[in-house]
Amino acid sequence: MAELKITNVRAILTAPVASRLIVVKVETSEPGLYGLGCATFTQRHTAVRSAIEDFLKLFFVGKDPHRIEDLWHTAWVNSYWRNGPVLNNALSGVDMALWDIKGKVAGLPVYQLLGGKCREGAAVYRHADGRDEVHVEENVRAWMEQGYQYIRCQMGGYGGRFAVRDRPENAQPGSYYDPDIYARSVPALFEHLRSKIGYDINLLHDIHERLVPIEAVRLAKQLEPYRLFFLEDPLPPEHIEWFQMIRQQCTTPLAMGELFVHPLEWKPLVTNRLIDFIRCHISAIGGITPAKKLATLCDAFGVRTAWHGPGDVSPVGHAANVHLDVSSRNFGVQEWSGLSDIEREIFPGSPEVRNGYVYPNDKPGLGIDIDETLAAKYPCPEGVPEWTLARAPDGTAMFP
Ligand code: MG
Repeated sequence: MAELKITNVRAILTAPVASRLIVVKVETSEPGLYGLGCATFTQRHTAVRSAIEDFLKLFFVGKDPHRIEDLWHTAWVNSYWRNGPVLNNALSGVDMALWDIKGKVAGLPVYQLLGGKCREGAAVYRHADGRDEVHVEENVRAWMEQGYQYIRCQMGGYGGRFAVRDRPENAQPGSYYDPDIYARSVPALFEHLRSKIGYDINLLHDIHERLVPIEAVRLAKQLEPYRLFFLEDPLPPEHIEWFQMIRQQCTTPLAMGELFVHPLEWKPLVTNRLIDFIRCHISAIGGITPAKKLATLCDAFGVRTAWHGPGDVSPVGHAANVHLDVSSRNFGVQEWSGLSDIEREIFPGSPEVRNGYVYPNDKPGLGIDIDETLAAKYPCPEGVPEWTLARAPDGTAMFP
């Protein structure tokens, strides 16, 4: 094994459902030994491909794939300017693939390399949406009947889209919503849900950075009586100083971080105990190597993990999440958006959910593969998703 070398690094782009997925394949000098990693930054997919194939390939080819820690750090700083989502995702694709290779060589699942299981499966949360409170309640009950114990409740996507007031003349195109209507609708939703369903179910809510900071403070305070499992992304990363204000006002548990790309974003929130759950998008922070360190930092401060797990994480990325989940003592909950049949066909070995828990398989490495021929039948579409063009009622550009 001393002679093992990286011989190729490739980006594989595919969009079998809605999201453009980017998977990295790292090939080695040992025939048939390769690793897979997730590098999915769906809104800038070809930029990530360029970072991988035009830069990281040159950096990694010829190197020993076992030296993950050293390779991660040297590749991270080798661009000198660093920490952006494009470069972090590209690096994550290689990083996860190196853990996959190491597991295959060792004959062990990645969770064993990360310290072994702390639990057999990871509890997941599902997303219940609805046009009104009764509709949300129906959807919450439907998830509960399938065995889920954690449910994120939203009304009309991320809210406030029902009744946007009159727009100004020549209003610009975009996804209009009304933050005030949204903010007032949420306490009413949870009043309804708790009065009808009770408290023996973990309910969550995602503000999705849709409010100005003081309104986020107010909403967190208003939701306190409903005992949320957590309130997700109450503020954009640009306003993290406001977390202190929320903490001073209420005990609503706070989850933050799906947009984080830089350690300076999470360090003050964790070490000052201003959040309860860290929920980074693993590929956006650079992969398993930095995520394991972040989980360990959080453990020391009583913060649990709730890694980002939407449709714009590839099944390879979901597998990485689950290996971290089962091997982190301070795991909290895992976001789970479900995998389609075609995704499972393209990615054999995808994690399985049963009765509210997601399980890794016990194959060596990440335990997941890719059918490249089938993946190629689903090329990535062009275009800008409308939801990313969020606007307030008067047409002002907002955080999406
Ligand atoms: Mg979210």
